[in-house]
Amino acid sequence: MSGVYRLGRLAGIDVYISFGLFIAIILLTVTLSSGWLPRIYPNASSGTYILLGLISSLFLFLSILLHELGHSLVARAHGLKVKNIVLFIFGGVSNIEQEARTPGADFQIAIIGPLVSIGIGLLCFGLWWPLRQSSSAIQALLEVLFVMNLVIGVFNLIPGYPLDGGRVLRAVFWKITGNANRATRITTGVGSLIAYLFIIWGIFQVFSGDVLDGIWIGFIGWFLLSASNSVRAQATFDEVLGDVTVEEVMVKNPVTVPANISLQKVIDDYFLPQALRSAFVMQASWLAGIITLNEIRHIPREKWSNTPIGLVMIPSERLHIVAPKQQLREVLPLMTGRDVNQLPVVEDGQLLGVLNRDVILRSIELRRSLR
Ligand SMILES: [Zn+2]
Repeated sequence: MSGVYRLGRLAGIDVYISFGLFIAIILLTVTLSSGWLPRIYPNASSGTYILLGLISSLFLFLSILLHELGHSLVARAHGLKVKNIVLFIFGGVSNIEQEARTPGADFQIAIIGPLVSIGIGLLCFGLWWPLRQSSSAIQALLEVLFVMNLVIGVFNLIPGYPLDGGRVLRAVFWKITGNANRATRITTGVGSLIAYLFIIWGIFQVFSGDVLDGIWIGFIGWFLLSASNSVRAQATFDEVLGDVTVEEVMVKNPVTVPANISLQKVIDDYFLPQALRSAFVMQASWLAGIITLNEIRHIPREKWSNTPIGLVMIPSERLHIVAPKQQLREVLPLMTGRDVNQLPVVEDGQLLGVLNRDVILRSIELRRSLR
């Protein structure tokens, strides 16, 4: 990931922050210290407002991190793999690698985020209430945090993708219809409707003179609309794939090379004659690894003739291996998520074939046109 820095590890989950987050913190600090804070905490110096604005912004992003941690921990409790949490300009995202297996699990994973935000909001409200008559920095900080967390919690409950409310609604329809794909279609329909309402509301605001608010609301609508369109495309894709298994689309008998030959030989005898960019490396009849042009290019040319490929290949322990009976639907996110172009298909240690991104795409296209 570019422009992303690792902040640390929280409850076993890597937390990253993007460069955009710094811009968001600066914008939020400026907004808070020039308007809201002077109104609720008058007669302080501008330095105090900036400092207080910065502290509020940092606490706000800490709240967003807790919201995402909620999603991640509940997902993990349901046995799903959580890749990381990334905080960026619009908030945060939990990268959960797998889909929930039941509507109940999906519901819990989605709803926990808004509940955490609303919970933090209520907690800050409870602390703010006794101080509401005083004019102090802590009272102002608590007011900002309770309002913003409640807004974030409620906003995320809007039933449109990619907001948590969209996933909550999908889980409900999934439970009712018993069909995850149909639930997605209904939910994206509702999401698009809400998106159009936002856009119309935005246009209305612009024409009644509230240009900035109108643009902002219209932008939210556009964002919701494009998200629900892409989710609908994904659902159609899943439907086309249906119950296709890995062995139905794998390329059988891929090119293999023995581990003890030299880099020069693999280039001369395999890569060049067959226009290959990679080949599986075998030790007797076992898959030992994969050799690609990339590894070879890192070795100086004069060493090619006396370097065995076994020394430079990517060993099989570092390869992601799939089984022939696995569903293509489950395997494909691994390829796109990790940007892998081919996966070896192995059963009982024997290489049966290779799953190739291009071949899968052609196969999907073919199935779609035959439907
Ligand atoms: Zn969320």
